Amino acid sequence: MNTMEKFDKYVMHSYGRYPLVMEKGEGRDCVDENNKQYIDFGSGIGTNSLGFCDEKWTDAVCSQVRTLQHNSNYYYTAVQADFAAALCETTGYKKVFFCNSGAEANECAIKAARKYSFDKYGKGRHTIITLENSFHGRTMATLSATGQDVFHNYFFPFLEGFVNVKANDIDDLKSKLTDGVCAVMIEYIQGEGGVNALESGFVDAVYELCAERDILVIADEVQTGVGRTGKFLAGEHYGKKADITTLAKGIAGGIPMGACLFGEKVQEVLTPGTHGSTFGGNPIACAGGNAVIERVTSEGFLDEVVKKAEHIAARLEKCGEVASISGKGLMIGIELKSKSAADIAKKALEQGLLVLTAKTKVRLLPPLTITMEEIDKGLDILIAILEG
Ligand SMILES: *Cc1c(COP(=O)(O)O)cnc(C)c1O
Repeated sequence: MNTMEKFDKYVMHSYGRYPLVMEKGEGRDCVDENNKQYIDFGSGIGTNSLGFCDEKWTDAVCSQVRTLQHNSNYYYTAVQADFAAALCETTGYKKVFFCNSGAEANECAIKAARKYSFDKYGKGRHTIITLENSFHGRTMATLSATGQDVFHNYFFPFLEGFVNVKANDIDDLKSKLTDGVCAVMIEYIQGEGGVNALESGFVDAVYELCAERDILVIADEVQTGVGRTGKFLAGEHYGKKADITTLAKGIAGGIPMGACLFGEKVQEVLTPGTHGSTFGGNPIACAGGNAVIERVTSEGFLDEVVKKAEHIAARLEKCGEVASISGKGLMIGIELKSKSAADIAKKALEQGLLVLTAKTKVRLLPPLTITMEEIDKGLDILIAILEG
């Protein structure tokens, strides 16, 4: 039995996979089992922020594996302390809770927001406003939070206490900010929903209206965080810092990790016993995280991300099949005029280029370390397909 046959036989069919058995990667290139080469414009859905097997990252992770792979949260480790300090010092947040995925980071944010409100106002003020077309994860709570009907099937009953507002509709937001609301949760740029950036006037209104009512703002930066958009946090583009920000995907360079960042107001909200995770803050993941944050915050790194993004946009804008480009930094949505994004992704794969889709768009999340030469090589393939 070959690998695909084994998957077919033994792995639950919960994903639509491309016919690619990936064997190894280096930098922005990977090869399949037949030694066919691919350029990576997807970075494992934004996780391999430094590309495949970056040397310093690999050294940090392997050295941690050989020293201490796990110890639970009954004990301290220097590597977790260092990563927490680096995250707080970089972002201005006060405290971090570590977990293992984006959904878990959002679960933590939801629990913390409800507890903040319960501690201060008692029962009943538990509703969390989320946006239509959002995506917050696959657990029961984060599915309930997700503002897309396609996710609200089969698994009834979903959690109560989530209300959706139309993105960029301030009046809709105002009408739903009732006394029972404890938090508003947003993605500054909706990723899975189609790479749509929120309008700054709407973001301003969210912060203003919430501040007046002691309603918390939760920013889901699972996809946009850790340098993806050319700033460490996408909130910086809007001049905003949420009470709670969640991170995952690229945070540890391809090792499962999530983090929930807490600002002043909520820094004491999770008391001993109220939340936990066996693997949260695992030393290997933290070692990966330290390597990522050191690189992403190094002098000039994010300026380079911005330059690469501008170069990509400039080339794509000249392509006749491109209707519009959305997103920020190296989180790029490409709306097409007549072709289907799914077809483009399939053809790109055949020609040795890995891209993603989001709704009707082709989505690019290349490794932040990608070079201009690699970008051009990938774009040559993509543009030829788009114009073909
Ligand atoms: C991917 C994603 C999630 C879910 O993250 P998982 O690690 O798959 O649980 C949540 N929110 C946003 C914005 C995401 O892009």
